[in-house]
Amino acid sequence: NYDYVNVDKELWNAIHDEKDRQEHTIELIASENIASNAVMAAQGSVLTNKYAEGYPGKRYYGGCEFVDVSESLAIDRAKRLFGAEYVNVQPHSGSQANQAAYAAFLKPGDKILGMDLNAGGHLTHGAKVNFSGKIYKSYSYGLDAKTEELNYDAILEEAKEIKPQLIVAGASAYSRIIDWNKFREIADAVGAYLMVDMAHIAGLVATGLHPSPIGIADVVTTTTHKTLRGPRGGMILSQAKYAKKINSSLFPGTQGGPLEHVIAGKAACFFEDLQPSFKTYCEQVIKNAKAMADEFKNSPNIKVVSGGTDNHLMVLDLTNTQLNGKETQALLDTLKITTNKEAIPDEQLSPFVTSGLRLGTPAITSRGFNEEDSREVARLISKAIENHDDSSVLDEVKEQVRLLTSKHPIFK
Ligand code: PLP
Repeated sequence: NYDYVNVDKELWNAIHDEKDRQEHTIELIASENIASNAVMAAQGSVLTNKYAEGYPGKRYYGGCEFVDVSESLAIDRAKRLFGAEYVNVQPHSGSQANQAAYAAFLKPGDKILGMDLNAGGHLTHGAKVNFSGKIYKSYSYGLDAKTEELNYDAILEEAKEIKPQLIVAGASAYSRIIDWNKFREIADAVGAYLMVDMAHIAGLVATGLHPSPIGIADVVTTTTHKTLRGPRGGMILSQAKYAKKINSSLFPGTQGGPLEHVIAGKAACFFEDLQPSFKTYCEQVIKNAKAMADEFKNSPNIKVVSGGTDNHLMVLDLTNTQLNGKETQALLDTLKITTNKEAIPDEQLSPFVTSGLRLGTPAITSRGFNEEDSREVARLISKAIENHDDSSVLDEVKEQVRLLTSKHPIFK
């Protein structure tokens, strides 16, 4: 081996700089988190060298006896975590989990009904620029104009008109509890399969802090790197009766060799998620989000979409401020607060600009922020938005960010 850090400086400086950025930044991207050393060690292990097409006990390559152990651990732990009959831990990402789940239940040209991107749905729920909107005939439901929440009666009416073969429930930017039973009733009323994409809230589901879709939906997909706090990747959960069709839809249907090092990272993550401390963590994630949303009530020009949050995230409506989503994201970047612009219900601006901002608490909670810290973050964001052209106020915000991040170091 060689001294790669010094020989390949260009690459390792970039990695070092990213670590430094994470240490000194308040990370509010709702889909991000801070993986443990155990998760990262498993991901950076020798398992990256191994080809293992197939599934534990039924591989197309020799020498799989040890990756069979680690993949089986990941499967068994995920089954326990979610109380699921069947789990596939091989999807490389959330998008690939969704691709394989659709392909298991649908034919090209079938109709799907999912949440609109502007309302908080994900690209893979039928956006026209995505495979899900190209392979399938996609339709979308939005939010109730008044409550800015899901309106199950309106979705039922839409489903009756469209008659989709599959309904997708789940979101990337929805701050309220989703009623899976209501979606089941809607799917049953029109004879559709129900797929739940719980990518964002999987940690909350695992700890009983959001109702579980397991046993209600026909198929459930997730990522493993958001509230679950694992390696970047995906997973599919379902009933035993669908095991064969989902397994073959993923491999050989959509993927080749599994990423066994990432799967080992998933096993390490699920081990941590099964500990009582993970529930305490998820409870704090929600407390922090609620505290932050509550603090924004003191900002007359900033509105929290739907008036608050039940989970780990919220969307700010910035229509009454002087900045759009893109400008706010850029302003906060200069202050070392990382966020992402987000469409609001009835968005009038392009997806690249938007009138909103999505904020989430999983990453700050992992580094130890409590409710008072979260309120302070909300105050800093409001202060920055209201004083976006006053450099001395912005300098004060920067200093408060420095104090908060040094109070809660990540890489001690
Ligand atoms: N599903 C939902 C609800 C998501 O929010 C995301 C990503 O943010 C995905 C799927 C896709 O996951 P990935 O980025 O791993 O493909």
